Amino acid sequence: CGVFGIYGHPEAANLAYLGLHALQHRGQESAGIVTSDGEQLFVHRAMGLVQDAFDQSQLEKLPGRFAIGHVRYSTAGGSALKNAQPFAVDFALGSLAICHNGNLTNADELRAELEASGSIFQSTSDSEVLIHLVARSRQNSLEDRISDALGRVKGAYSLLFMTEDMLMAVRDPHGVRPLCLGILPGSQHQGRNDAYIVASEPTAFDLIGAEFVRDLEPGEMLIIDGNGMRSLRLGERAAPHMCIFEYVYFARPDSYIQGRSVYEVRKALGERLAREHPVEADVVIPVPDSGVPSAIGYASALKIPFEMGLIRSHYVGRTFIEPQQSIRHFGVRLKLNPVSTILRGKRVIVLDDSIVRGTTSRKIVKMIRDAGAREVHMRISSPPTQWPCYYGIDTPTRRELIASSHTVDEIARYITADSLAYLSLDGMIKAVRGAQALPSSAPPSSSRDVTTQGYCHACFSGEYPIAFQPPANGKRQM
Ligand code: 5GP
Ligand code: SF4
Ligand code: MG
Repeated sequence: CGVFGIYGHPEAANLAYLGLHALQHRGQESAGIVTSDGEQLFVHRAMGLVQDAFDQSQLEKLPGRFAIGHVRYSTAGGSALKNAQPFAVDFALGSLAICHNGNLTNADELRAELEASGSIFQSTSDSEVLIHLVARSRQNSLEDRISDALGRVKGAYSLLFMTEDMLMAVRDPHGVRPLCLGILPGSQHQGRNDAYIVASEPTAFDLIGAEFVRDLEPGEMLIIDGNGMRSLRLGERAAPHMCIFEYVYFARPDSYIQGRSVYEVRKALGERLAREHPVEADVVIPVPDSGVPSAIGYASALKIPFEMGLIRSHYVGRTFIEPQQSIRHFGVRLKLNPVSTILRGKRVIVLDDSIVRGTTSRKIVKMIRDAGAREVHMRISSPPTQWPCYYGIDTPTRRELIASSHTVDEIARYITADSLAYLSLDGMIKAVRGAQALPSSAPPSSSRDVTTQGYCHACFSGEYPIAFQPPANGKRQM
């Protein structure tokens, strides 16, 4: 999921709408914005992409200078309007809205406990647990109630809370999901003060002309209200475990995360992969879009021409039509089509970021071969995905992950590639650490983040940094 918050701008809803557009890659299932005019909250949430969920008349019904917004991605089962965020409720201290990127690993346990003592849940989302914990806390101030609630939850969370007149942003003690702070300088001329912005990725700042200030620290709580901005630390201190898959696949390549350019990291992943697993070939092509920077890195390291041998249609959303036997590869063809002049008679290396079930990769290899390629060598810019994520990335169960039960050779045979190779775990971490950091504006977190330790790579290594209960029903939220 993606979150966006803005404090202190007359066009808060419009800017949140734009910010969510820049975070659309983090969730396409539903979108929502809650605003405040200082006295009450206004809510609009709907299924679908940001552009479908909002039109001008709906934005006009979201007045005020404060807003938080959310784009959501979930498994099919959890996809329903009732789970769309931000959630907004009224409770003893007033109104409270909340949105969440991540996954609470003890949500089922807490929910059962809350339900047993009378809480009535409106959604099946793990995030709603937080609202009940805040509402039931015995602390006096909202700030203390939120701290109290956060003390009970475990897992990955980048959270935004909003009341009638306050915005709060929190990153979990492990810093699994990204969250960063920006500022939109006020204009004297229009009598505006600086507006504070918090977003999952800095792409959201670029679009609205805001400046990147810094990443939130793991375990940091930022409170922005009429008195300005304050930074507090959550009680628990933990080793940082930033999700390395954000670099590999999830974040937008034009983002900076913990001072690292996602694009540069992906290129470095490709360069390392070329060193670890070179192969003679005539052309390197990416599986667009996610494979593009790593293919550029791979091709340049081996001095093999880089070409766009597959073209992606950017107009395809979710498809509901089941392909018929007569239209083979329909599902993938709708999204990707080969450029046969690039592929015919060639030895082709194709780069992708990951293989999950292997079904797409198999179709892609076949498509490239059908276009006339002589050899097809698949290279993956991360290690085999063997373990499900319990921290907010939607992966299937372990059984469905092809690499959990098959060797690389077996997967190569399944996807019918002439060869298949993955980047090593060590190579991936080194590429992330080695990629160029932001020059002068390196955020304070960079000193402690990357050079010494600091990543979650559980989906590749099985080393889960935060305890979890495997979900009974297979549902996972993000
Ligand atoms: P497969 O061959 O396993 O069917 O599909 C692999 C493709 O899935 C890769 O191109 C990769 O970019 C994409 N992918 C990897 N992780 C995710 C994810 O979390 N969600 C979605 N929608 N696609 C993913
Ligand atoms: Fe990221 Fe993988 Fe860890 Fe999930 S398990 S947080 S996807 S690195
Ligand atoms: Mg892909």
